[in-house]
Amino acid sequence: MDAGAGAHVVRGVIVWGANNIYSVRDESGFIHEHLRLKGKTLADTEGEHNPLAPGDRVVVDETGGTPRIVEREERRNTVVRWNRTRRRMQAIAANTDLLAIVTSRGTPEYRPAFVDRVLVMTELQGLSAVIVLNKTDLPLTRDAEEHVTILRNIGYEIHATAATDPQDRGIETLQGRLSGISTVFFGQSGVGKSSLINRLVPGLNLTTGDVSHRYHRGRHTTTLARQVLVFGDRGLTVYIDTPGVREYDLFGYTIPQIGHGFREFQLYEGQCRMPDCSHTHEPECAVQAAVEHGAITARRYDSYRRIIQTVEGSHR
Ligand code: GDP
Ligand code: ZN
Repeated sequence: MDAGAGAHVVRGVIVWGANNIYSVRDESGFIHEHLRLKGKTLADTEGEHNPLAPGDRVVVDETGGTPRIVEREERRNTVVRWNRTRRRMQAIAANTDLLAIVTSRGTPEYRPAFVDRVLVMTELQGLSAVIVLNKTDLPLTRDAEEHVTILRNIGYEIHATAATDPQDRGIETLQGRLSGISTVFFGQSGVGKSSLINRLVPGLNLTTGDVSHRYHRGRHTTTLARQVLVFGDRGLTVYIDTPGVREYDLFGYTIPQIGHGFREFQLYEGQCRMPDCSHTHEPECAVQAAVEHGAITARRYDSYRRIIQTVEGSHR
């Protein structure tokens, strides 16, 4: 960026924001609060529902009286969701190392379709994902257990935790896994995201609004995530708590993209006879053959078919 002679710019990362007012943590660790964008929008963010999300790297121009955010750097990846009201994709977080899909036993019930959909997004966004099965003190249904086993078999990492049980060892394992990286917690509301983060960060009480010298965080209003920064032996650990989502839609994607979002289908890419094969009715389809041979489970394939039905409708 060329802000002209005498310009004073700082680079930083969005910690949180709401209503187009953001907090930015600069390279020295200082948090600049109440920053607005310069102008209505930023370059290259046209048409986006919200141009900035926690994790975005930005340039702040401090020249003159009021500092303004003038630039968003290119994203390494984005956690997105479909905004039903605006009918477009919306960024929830950017440049994160990992997405933890938090699910629970009991209430709310584990929903395989929800997990599959979020996994499609992580595959397409180039995000690593782990599944956290919380509330292990409650029984897991056979159906959920079967789904989790399939996910484990196709290579997803599964963590079991009981966030409200002080004796739980799963929390420690998860803590070790997440230490030194940035993780987005994603899931339905009530699964225990906030409880988990409170356990991962001893001394933190996510429901209150205090900011200590060790933890910097913000409360979001409705659509933005809140971020907890922990400075420890292994550097900076970032936990991003996102607002609970009830449904997860994949309307922004095409059918071939959805196919790519099923990790175990990727092995067969380019092997179907038809280009852009939807893996449903086409002859010599490598994915359908793999389902017949049992290399791809009928369960995940059915899930794929259900998703593309909803996506097909949205393109008309
Ligand atoms: P969030 O909406 O995902 O942030 O969920 P919360 O952290 O607010 O938790 C929702 C409810 O589930 C609260 O009543 C928690 O006490 C409860 N809860 C969280 N973790 C566990 C757990 O491991 N076991 C049980 N039985 N309840 C839990
Ligand atoms: Zn095919």
